[in-house]
Amino acid sequence: MKPAAFTYHAPASVDEALDVLAELGDDAKVLAGGQSLVPMLSMRLAVFAHLVDIGRVAGLSTLDVGGRHVTVGATTVDSRIERDAELSGAVPLLTRVTPYIGHLAIRNRGTLGGSIAHADPAGEYPAVAVALDAEIRLRSARAERRVGASDFFTGLWSTVMEPDEILVDVTFPRWDGRCGFAVREHARRHGDFAIAGAVAGVSLGEGDRVERAAVGMFGVSSTPVRVRQLDAEVIGRPARECDPEQIGALAASGIHDVVSDMSGSASYRRRVGAAMVSRAWAAALEEAISA
Ligand SMILES: Cc1cc2nc3c(=O)[nH]c(=O)nc-3n(C[C@H](O)[C@H](O)[C@H](O)COP(=O)(O)OP(=O)(O)OC[C@H]3O[C@@H](n4cnc5c(N)ncnc54)[C@H](O)[C@@H]3O)c2cc1C
Repeated sequence: MKPAAFTYHAPASVDEALDVLAELGDDAKVLAGGQSLVPMLSMRLAVFAHLVDIGRVAGLSTLDVGGRHVTVGATTVDSRIERDAELSGAVPLLTRVTPYIGHLAIRNRGTLGGSIAHADPAGEYPAVAVALDAEIRLRSARAERRVGASDFFTGLWSTVMEPDEILVDVTFPRWDGRCGFAVREHARRHGDFAIAGAVAGVSLGEGDRVERAAVGMFGVSSTPVRVRQLDAEVIGRPARECDPEQIGALAASGIHDVVSDMSGSASYRRRVGAAMVSRAWAAALEEAISA
């Protein structure tokens, strides 16, 4: 099928794009890599009279690796994130989840900002954002605001963004010291959206005690999930005493709206989700212990 007719806008700057969005309101939609939006338009699941292509906007495809934070511009494509050696050392989870996103041709076009704005609960980048407490910068012609990832996702494919706002960039914290990170996901075939998946980060202090922990789940609920109840369970405890199976079970038991669809029932997803958390946690821990 073909999309319904639309007017194509190709602004050269963020200000120009924001002016177009402010003028057109709900009739306009931002177009980034097009890997989610174009199929929806083609299948007529969505119809917009105006598309505002931000692909040529100067200064949005940035990757700034600083000493304490990394800021990824909205239109930075997945394949760049996958290959950037400096980023891989600074925020390993971003690099490690990327090969799970579709296939290379999709990752050459798809953007980090698009993935987060699209808010698919099975998306990998949204889960990394909530797990690491990333900060999302939004701009409109009216104002600029920064939103914590945990407050950004409001439901299935929905966020706090207003129609006249553009997601400009996302800032991730760098972790220092003895850290380990891992992703595990279960999908029918490589490149498919996950039925359930988990990302984990752990850092160790004196006596191999857990100093910091971050676990995110995707594919299990209507939004990506940051498993906060784990913090009380593991922080300060010797790493070897934290049983991965118990951690997986605890994580899955805290999710109240587990998705049930043709890819899997809620009880299946809960079990797979628990297993993914437990495996990601165990792998992250091993990496931290041997760091
Ligand atoms: C076959 C296939 C398999 C895939 N598998 C996976 C997978 O396993 N995991 C995964 O996470 N994704 C997967 N995807 C989706 C892919 O990663 C998309 O690239 C991503 O979801 C959207 O990024 P995009 O840049 O293509 O955004 P677009 O498709 O251009 O836009 C998506 C939505 O976000 C909005 N948007 C985009 N950028 C901005 C911005 N800067 N500010 C405001 N709004 C914005 C658009 O208006 C639109 O509503 C798959 C896609 C395909 C086609």
